[in-house]
Amino acid sequence: MPQAQKQPVRRTKILTTLGPTTDKPGILDAMVKAGIDVVRINFSHGDPEEHRQRVESVRAASAKYGRHVAILGDLQGPKIRIARFKEGAVNLEVGQPFIIDMDLGRTDGDEHQVGCDYKDLAKDLFEGDVLLLDDGRLVFEVTGVAAPKVHCKVLVGGKLSNNKGINKQGGGLSAAALTEKDKIDMQTAIKLGVDYIAISFPRSAADMEYARELLHKYSDDLQSDIGKTIGLVAKVERAEAVSTNEILDGIIKASDAVMVARGDLGVEIGDARLIGAQKNMIKRAQMYNTPVINATQALESMINAPLPTRAEVMDVGNAVLDGADAVMCSAETAAGDYPVETVEAMKRAIAGAEALQEARRDNNRLDCTFDRLDETVAYSAMFAANHLEGVAAVACLTETGHTPLVASRIRSDLPIVALSPSDRTLCRMSLYKGVVPVKFDASKYPTPEVNRAAVELVEEKGLGTKGDYVVITRGDHHCAQGTTNSMKIVEIGEHIG
Ligand code: PGA
Ligand code: MN
Repeated sequence: MPQAQKQPVRRTKILTTLGPTTDKPGILDAMVKAGIDVVRINFSHGDPEEHRQRVESVRAASAKYGRHVAILGDLQGPKIRIARFKEGAVNLEVGQPFIIDMDLGRTDGDEHQVGCDYKDLAKDLFEGDVLLLDDGRLVFEVTGVAAPKVHCKVLVGGKLSNNKGINKQGGGLSAAALTEKDKIDMQTAIKLGVDYIAISFPRSAADMEYARELLHKYSDDLQSDIGKTIGLVAKVERAEAVSTNEILDGIIKASDAVMVARGDLGVEIGDARLIGAQKNMIKRAQMYNTPVINATQALESMINAPLPTRAEVMDVGNAVLDGADAVMCSAETAAGDYPVETVEAMKRAIAGAEALQEARRDNNRLDCTFDRLDETVAYSAMFAANHLEGVAAVACLTETGHTPLVASRIRSDLPIVALSPSDRTLCRMSLYKGVVPVKFDASKYPTPEVNRAAVELVEEKGLGTKGDYVVITRGDHHCAQGTTNSMKIVEIGEHIG
């Protein structure tokens, strides 16, 4: 069996947003080759045909490089946007009046007024409210509401271009999390076979529960077996969602992963409160075994520059230390000039943080009781792996990915090799910190041969060499779900039964 050289394994995952830049020839391939783990297809832009082409390109590039890259379909949600300008953009001066007019034609905006699709905006606003446009780059104060017009004064001016978002400072816009467009896009996402669907702007657990109901209903309607295996990601980006730990915990528990969506969240709660929100969200998600994506402006300056700023490198490193599963690139890869350099810069920033003891040693769950056998085995395996000298990897034989998910909640510097016959499970696990998804069909081997075959794969992937220990977890019935009940430590090169 050929042996690759043993390399330190990156544990924090890289999520990149697809867009016009990644549609250019060779870019997506280069990013997959460079090691991206998850891609985001943004349903705010593009049509179903464009989404289908992107999904196909991702699956093709993944197959080419033998990797499992998860696809996250990100629904637009009730993002409130201005309509368009006759000239594409306008320049607004501080102090000038400006009107958002729900009745104005979609392309009729100018330096005095612009349209808006969200017809209830005038109902949700009062004199004195502060509106933030284009992620807070421009600020308006509401000076009067006369539906369908909202009269404003420009507090912070600048260039305002087509379709930019509007947030209200402090939150409180009444729009429901799933729009009619989102419902159609969710069905498209199911048909495309994405691995995760992100729900934008959920207010509470109820929005996520409703999204899951829809996911199940549409999967039945479309007779899609895989629909129900799609993971739901809550984008936490409304002031309401982080207003109490009870609401936040509800959202986390109702979701398969959560995103610290710092773009919109920062606009609603103010940038200064983001650091607290990020740390609290990651800590609370950890309590419920829920993976976390840390998103937005991670390496923002790389949209136009080949290297990040030091502050950006520090921000990515900080997210790694906080325990995020994944860090996300938005426009840096979707519309930037240096997409592949961005991925490389992410890798360097992650490696710097992961080299610190703090990122590698765990003191979580020391005073917990466990209530599931598979979770108990997952924690035990990580404890053993972290404390025994000479362990190269943890190898989990898994059907649903639950054991690797739980194992990956424990800090470590070791890879968790997640061995599964299911491509769906393998892609889904690409998001989990420290998990290396590897295709493996245990049913092809007689039971006494399975461990040996699994360890051979660990060796073949360059994740361990002769004399290293591998901690294996598996169940008695290796094709059944949720049955992991054993842990075994074996030595590479020795007789393995
Ligand atoms: P977006 O979400 O990029 O879809 O707006 C992320 C965020 O708000 O941070
Ligand atoms: Mn957002």
